[in-house]
Amino acid sequence: MDDGNAELQESISALTSMPVPEHVSIPKIEIRARPAPVPSNSELEAGRVFFAEGAKFVMSVVDAAAIPPPDRPEVCFCGRSNVGKSSLINALTGQKKLARTSRTPGRTQQLNYFSIRDSLYLVDVPGYGYARMPKKIQRRGRQLLFNYLRGRAALRRVFLLLDARHAVTSTDQAFLDAMAESAVPMQFVLTKSDLTNRESTKRTQSRISQAIVDFPSLHMEVISTSSRRMAGIDMLRSTIASLK
Ligand code: GDP
Repeated sequence: MDDGNAELQESISALTSMPVPEHVSIPKIEIRARPAPVPSNSELEAGRVFFAEGAKFVMSVVDAAAIPPPDRPEVCFCGRSNVGKSSLINALTGQKKLARTSRTPGRTQQLNYFSIRDSLYLVDVPGYGYARMPKKIQRRGRQLLFNYLRGRAALRRVFLLLDARHAVTSTDQAFLDAMAESAVPMQFVLTKSDLTNRESTKRTQSRISQAIVDFPSLHMEVISTSSRRMAGIDMLRSTIASLK
């Protein structure tokens, strides 16, 4: 029996005040973020077909009370301003100007609803943590985001975008901490993977693992993307198609 196991047994014994029989082996629990497995050809094809017609803009809302009725599943994309969210939505839908890619990040404090094949909503939410944005607007954006995230039963998954070079920054961690109580299923998506190499991607992965320890409703599988190179976009399409 290895040391970790012995330690675990001791803690459990202490907790329960009952000795754990020696022959009972308790597996060590290790939480590890890992790259999402490559989907099968048919899963990739399902993703391609699902997004083949692109997306239709439905509406922008500035108040969570005004969002469309939850009559279909939806997924949303959130992350720090400038993380590459607009570029990723444009890459996914094959529409270069669907979500605005701007050089002055963080101006949009609204939820933008897009419809895919009339069967799923894709929601672009305000980016967080843009220091140069006026505090009042930041606060309004944060409020809108959290009201939406906490109260939306149709929300199948929140894709939390992280820059592949920086992984979980303190701003992301603050966002995760604020979301920790909610049961919303989340999954990390790395952006701008073209700007990293294999080694730093590994480092990123382990830093994500640390964030995950404190956040049980996260999916362990991390999808790595580059909108510039169209890398990982097919994988993300097939993941979304599987949620409809
Ligand atoms: P948003 O503020 O999160 O919507 O981010 P944007 O999509 O506007 O992108 C912010 C900046 O990152 C822009 O200058 C983009 O050109 C750049 N960017 C976005 N995606 C990629 C990518 O995959 N690779 C690289 N190298 N740059 C990217």
